[in-house]
Amino acid sequence: MQIAIDGPAGAGKSTIAKRLAGESGYIYVDTGAMYRAMALFLLRQGVSPDDREGIERACSDADITIKYIDGEQNVILNGENVNGLIRTREVSNMASVSSVNGKVRKKLVALQQRLAATEDVVMDGRDIGTVVLPGADVKIFLTASPAVRAKRRYDELTAKGEACDIKAVEKEIIERDERDMTREISPLKQAEDAIVVDTSDMDIDEVVDTIRNLISQLC
Ligand code: C5P
Repeated sequence: MQIAIDGPAGAGKSTIAKRLAGESGYIYVDTGAMYRAMALFLLRQGVSPDDREGIERACSDADITIKYIDGEQNVILNGENVNGLIRTREVSNMASVSSVNGKVRKKLVALQQRLAATEDVVMDGRDIGTVVLPGADVKIFLTASPAVRAKRRYDELTAKGEACDIKAVEKEIIERDERDMTREISPLKQAEDAIVVDTSDMDIDEVVDTIRNLISQLC
């Protein structure tokens, strides 16, 4: 069983995917966390976001795997659990730039496909329904207005003690979406057979109910 959830930053993908996976006993695969771990590696190596060749050279040295601890996905970068280090704005912005790179994508897509080959999954990202799991049983394209998405990210960051300005967060979200949607390889787009769920005016329970109903209709 494969459930693919794609959409822009802050649409609620991970919260919803995690809930659905928990209810159904499937594995939750957060592919953004893998791109974030790669971004952290590149930042630590001092590779500039504009240095395409540097990114290509360095990315082969990043061994990224995932491990489930108490049902929670943890990303392991060269043996180190980096889950607590990958949600900063610096890493978000680097992930958005480095994920444009074909070599980075090839490496991480292979890992995602390996996971889905052996487990029932709820997988979220940008290219799951289009590239990673084109044959997924259910494809959801989760979205919300930029203002709502910025507010969610702002709340998330401030709850973790990261000082930020909501307007700056909204600007970064819009820039990341733009980069994700216009990149040459695996851009963020709705798969032809995906169902759009706009979460702007819905709370988490309503979104989960909506998707649960869609899954039971389709499977
Ligand atoms: O989903 P999340 O915000 O954690 O993703 C971080 C970044 O990783 C995104 O802005 C996007 O550029 C990239 N990404 C991607 N493909 C995926 C998942 C994430 O390009 N499947």
